[in-house]
Amino acid sequence: MHGGKEHRSLAIVFVAHDEGAFTAQAGSSGLEGIVLNFPPPVHPAVEKLQTMACKLCSFVYDQGEGYKPDQIRPDTPWEEIPETWTCQDCGAPKSEFEEIDI
Ligand SMILES: [Zn+2]
Repeated sequence: MHGGKEHRSLAIVFVAHDEGAFTAQAGSSGLEGIVLNFPPPVHPAVEKLQTMACKLCSFVYDQGEGYKPDQIRPDTPWEEIPETWTCQDCGAPKSEFEEIDI
């Protein structure tokens, strides 16, 4: 029985990880149950650190490292770097950078 209602045999109940505990009571003919515990859902991937490369000279901005000479701290996303910032090797604007996979 669950919630005051008696379920027939072979009932399937799914309880999501964010729901409260499921409670059941034996009905008039008793209770046989199997509990299957699935692993919790995989959390969204940790935000990938961006690596941006200048298309003109290949200077690389690594988000994980930031850029200390310009006081850009490690983990600063590319979007938070001022639009006035320019490539340290050739002076190209931010718009000349593209994301690269390492
Ligand atoms: Zn450049």
